[in-house]
Amino acid sequence: MKPGTRLVAAGRRKQWTQGIVNPPVWRASTMLFDTVADLRASSKDPNAGLYYGRRGTPTQWALADALTGMEPGAAGTMLYPSGVAAITTALLSVLSPGDELLMVDSAYEPTRNFCNGLLRTMGVTTTYYDPMIGGGIADLFTDHTRAIFLESPGSLTFEVQDVPAICAAAKARGIATLLDNTWATPLLFPAIGHGVDITILACTKYIVGHSDVMMGSATAAPTCFEKLRRTTHGLGHCVSPDDAYLALRGLRTLGVRMKAHQESALAIAHWLDAQPQVARVLHPALAACPGHAIWQRDFAGSSGLFSIEMAYGDDAARTALIDGLQHFGIGFSWGGYESLALPVDPAPLRTANRWGGGGPLIRLQIGLEDAADLIADLAAGLCRFDAAVARVST
Ligand SMILES: *Cc1c(COP(=O)(O)O)cnc(C)c1O
Repeated sequence: MKPGTRLVAAGRRKQWTQGIVNPPVWRASTMLFDTVADLRASSKDPNAGLYYGRRGTPTQWALADALTGMEPGAAGTMLYPSGVAAITTALLSVLSPGDELLMVDSAYEPTRNFCNGLLRTMGVTTTYYDPMIGGGIADLFTDHTRAIFLESPGSLTFEVQDVPAICAAAKARGIATLLDNTWATPLLFPAIGHGVDITILACTKYIVGHSDVMMGSATAAPTCFEKLRRTTHGLGHCVSPDDAYLALRGLRTLGVRMKAHQESALAIAHWLDAQPQVARVLHPALAACPGHAIWQRDFAGSSGLFSIEMAYGDDAARTALIDGLQHFGIGFSWGGYESLALPVDPAPLRTANRWGGGGPLIRLQIGLEDAADLIADLAAGLCRFDAAVARVST
């Protein structure tokens, strides 16, 4: 089955849908049992079906099942109230006091904050590594290395990691690998098949796709799923059936949305690449992006999020560019149908490598508007950028 077909078919078991195309929203806290014996039998088996609202209803199970179905080789999926909750819970499921974690230097900022905060206080040491390290990661292994966290492409700067090489090195030493796969989703990069043990999505982004639900997911290979399930239940995570319904509805159109995001983002990225104000376009499908050849080898396509590094200018010029945009909102998150622009400053977040030297960075989320309108908007923005630079120098 091709990924597009899988998106339509995944998770639509009759036991979840009752024969309706989309599973209904089952709202519940209490489930009622016929007898005490039934109640006791249900509590023993975490997969027994309806038990208590925190364990979900067919609405959440259909979504979890669908996400598992997108990852050939996966054992199951757990759902979380946000992408960050998925990341922190997946890390807690594989780490104990005294362990060492290898964390990619280009990780999403709240992921770093969790490592430097709660994980540190519980006695887990984090070492940050160069996103381009590849199989050389083995040089960083110690007797206490228990897990490697990857994010590919990286947040803000879009380095594409050699996931298969890192996972192969980890497997040889029994080290767990976790990947933040939010940019590609399993549609463009089925991570479990590439050797990852736990793959994480901020469903808030492309899965939901409409900027109206917070949600995360973690999908695990058989080696890690039971630990992940136990930790998730232990921490009491659950998502509402209404949100699960919306995420499932978003998932069904992921394929067509992603094609549109990809096509517009590529057109805009190539146009920006030819502008004198732009030094580098950090988009995995463009040659200047670190890891571009790995993206070509491993990914089935690209999504709609990338950054540009300006050739000159300062924060005031960047602000002038962004503030006047008509079709790009100014805000966090991405993956919805609307375009967004954000000033980003990766330098203070880097500890393994230095980042910097160039002009200011802007991250663009390309939505489903017509690309020609977005290019005209950005062209006017580049004029404002140059006008602001000229004001400073006169
Ligand atoms: C947004 C984001 C997250 C966190 O998702 P939330 O649902 O906002 O908590 C995690 N990883 C990446 C790469 C993200 O962009």
